[in-house]
Amino acid sequence: MTTFKNTIVPCQKCGKLIAVKVRDFENGAIQCTHTGCGHINQLTLPYYDERILQGLPSFGHLIYHDNPSIVYPLRFGINVVGHSSSCHVHVERFLHEGKCYLSRRHCTIEVLFDKWDGNLRYQIQDGAIDSETGDYKNSLNGTLLNGYLLQNGEKIDVTDQGLVCLGGIDVFRLEVYQIPQAMRQTYLTFKPFELDETQ
Ligand SMILES: [Zn+2]
Repeated sequence: MTTFKNTIVPCQKCGKLIAVKVRDFENGAIQCTHTGCGHINQLTLPYYDERILQGLPSFGHLIYHDNPSIVYPLRFGINVVGHSSSCHVHVERFLHEGKCYLSRRHCTIEVLFDKWDGNLRYQIQDGAIDSETGDYKNSLNGTLLNGYLLQNGEKIDVTDQGLVCLGGIDVFRLEVYQIPQAMRQTYLTFKPFELDETQ
């Protein structure tokens, strides 16, 4: 989500300063107000090029809380987490007094790229798409994020070190991958503003 502020830009033709209002960004252009100019200036917005994703060494991890040596890497896009071998994040069948509380396909973590701020974004939802029927199916024992029980169909952002509790007993810490600032700067790009990209 991008927020626009009133600002001042130099005219691309005469170089004199023009006041730009939020509605001018929405129009995508502003006409120079200086006498004898009247040039139509295209307004541009900075964003981070998605090609940055190709060079990233990691997309974050899930770390098992009771044993931090158990680490599961996340990938870009959809990650289904569960103890079925069909899962992208194939976790162990952690047993508690002989009982496993995890569903075969327990929750879904989506790793996205926010091109406006240049960071990865993590969203979690209880359940997953069934690999055979294609229907969305909730987990048997639920998913909690930082102690909050996710509701049916609810998708929530996970921030760094967020605690994901699966089935009420197995806790994983989500370690996000923070793209280094110097690398983000390299991929900072300007292009003509198009309204539909912010919606
Ligand atoms: Zn001008």
